[in-house]
Amino acid sequence: MMRTHRCGDLRPEHAGREVTLCGWVHSRRDHGGVTFIDLRDTAGIVQVVFSVDIDAGAHAAAQGLRSEYCVQVVGRVRERPAGTVNERIPTGAVEVAASSLRVLSEAETPPFQIDSPHEVDESLRLRYRYLDLRRARLQDNLRLRHAIIAAIRRFFDAEGFVEVETPMLMRATPEGARDYLVPSRLHPGCFYALPQSPQTFKQLLMVAGLDRYYQIARCMRDEDLRADRQPEFTQLDVEMSFVDVEDVLDVTERCFKYVWREVMGVELGPFLRLPYAESVERFGTDKPDVRFGVELQDLGPVFAASEAKVLRSALEDGGAVKAITLPGRGSASRKELDALVDEAKRLGAGGLVWAAVTQEGLRCPLERHLGEDEKRALVQRAGASEGDLVLIVADRSRARVDKVLGALRTRLAERYGLIPETDPSDPAHWRFVWIVDFPWFEYNEDAGRWDFSHHPFTGVVEETLDNLESDPGKVLSKAYDITLNGWELASGSIRIHDRELQKRVFAALGISSDEAEERFGFLLDAFRYGVPPHGGIAPGIDRIVALAAGETNIREVIAFPKTQSAQDLMTGAPSPVDAEQLEVLHLRTTVPLEETEA
Ligand code: ASP
Repeated sequence: MMRTHRCGDLRPEHAGREVTLCGWVHSRRDHGGVTFIDLRDTAGIVQVVFSVDIDAGAHAAAQGLRSEYCVQVVGRVRERPAGTVNERIPTGAVEVAASSLRVLSEAETPPFQIDSPHEVDESLRLRYRYLDLRRARLQDNLRLRHAIIAAIRRFFDAEGFVEVETPMLMRATPEGARDYLVPSRLHPGCFYALPQSPQTFKQLLMVAGLDRYYQIARCMRDEDLRADRQPEFTQLDVEMSFVDVEDVLDVTERCFKYVWREVMGVELGPFLRLPYAESVERFGTDKPDVRFGVELQDLGPVFAASEAKVLRSALEDGGAVKAITLPGRGSASRKELDALVDEAKRLGAGGLVWAAVTQEGLRCPLERHLGEDEKRALVQRAGASEGDLVLIVADRSRARVDKVLGALRTRLAERYGLIPETDPSDPAHWRFVWIVDFPWFEYNEDAGRWDFSHHPFTGVVEETLDNLESDPGKVLSKAYDITLNGWELASGSIRIHDRELQKRVFAALGISSDEAEERFGFLLDAFRYGVPPHGGIAPGIDRIVALAAGETNIREVIAFPKTQSAQDLMTGAPSPVDAEQLEVLHLRTTVPLEETEA
């Protein structure tokens, strides 16, 4: 072994011992005949002292040290003199008096300081990710990720689940995103798709009699990226046989509680449960952040016969008038209010009507169109009191009203500090919510057809099945999501296990039987041979870890993430390839090499 101890592990009880340490020079300070370095390894940092009095040779050698040199130090641990203890680091009560120094490898000046207290430009961080990963924050995040995944594996193992790997090169899956394709050399003109999820395989494992499957699975989706999305991401993929909704909810909820108990030391209470319709009605979204109020209030009844035409006509056109109330914001300036109106418009609203509840009454641009009773009813239904600001959105599409107010609600709660500051050790910090009773279909306005809202294998709530052909909007699915503090963490469903029903569903989606046969024939075939009723779920590991780590971007918990434009700045992927490589793959690109945008 090249070392006897890890830097970050040394404590006063080691005083007097000779140790050999290996690590990186985190920083160096010279004080006359004494040189201090902070030596860093995976366990933390310890101060090493070189002086002529301790060892003149080692002291001389230390003069050549620079940041990030990788070194081996032999020395004796001693307690630091009183008054020089560093309370900020766990090894702060000791130091190592160095008797020998060996440079294992030198380092050029890094492009950014590893211990920089300042934000480093993200593209620089991603280009030199191996240096970025040396920083404590990212080391902690990767360790937390490991601990969470290890706990998940322990949990599922104890519950009798089998971890099975499924193919990376496969036929396209039906999650509804764009596929990453891989050209086949042996089959000219044919492509594999990278898995958007192991959905079809996990269902086939149930047909195969595996009974309880899970996998820490990589998934690839060629989508536009956001803070909580990467082109490749990791899911805890789960599938179970002979179950209904409650069984999957139970195992999943217990898994989260186990992970939080084991890894975070937090005892979570029962998860809240909200039907989709209620979540959208109250929070304007199916990813509700329930840590604070400011719920959407329906002002429809107030304005049904109003003189204020914008409000009334939205209702007459079958839409909605709803509001959120921001406590204590009634004194907002005109400028602030105008900015809010603009923000609502950018979110898709035709406009936003604000109403400030003041001592003198209601201050509102529509004031002269509102009767006294109306004003009183508005304030009452909005749940406002003096000093509050009511933000009203009216539109002929109820969905748009919900969407705009839902987005404003979360943005403004953050901006105005309405989310209670809780400690991560407090169960109230983690507001998990199950969303259930999703509509099976979503109307796609642009394409003028019904799309699935989860995926085409999702089970149908029996009582709503009769609407499948006549009124798809009324069909409910056996799908469920878990959300945490406004993030979607997991989706899943009980599946269709009846071949005929599966065909009916494809038809309702406008997928012809030929197309269904062509795309999912293998699954429909399997369903001829005795399918157990089954269902599952797939929590997103990156999001779980990000929330657990208190990060707002999943890139911070992924070792080698891609940028917002799906590039790996370190390796330079994606990149052009040789003409010969394309040739053997039977491909020709339409972009001339000199115009390739890498
Ligand atoms: N495959 C689904 C997804 O990735 C999850 C599931 O239905 O289990 O969202």
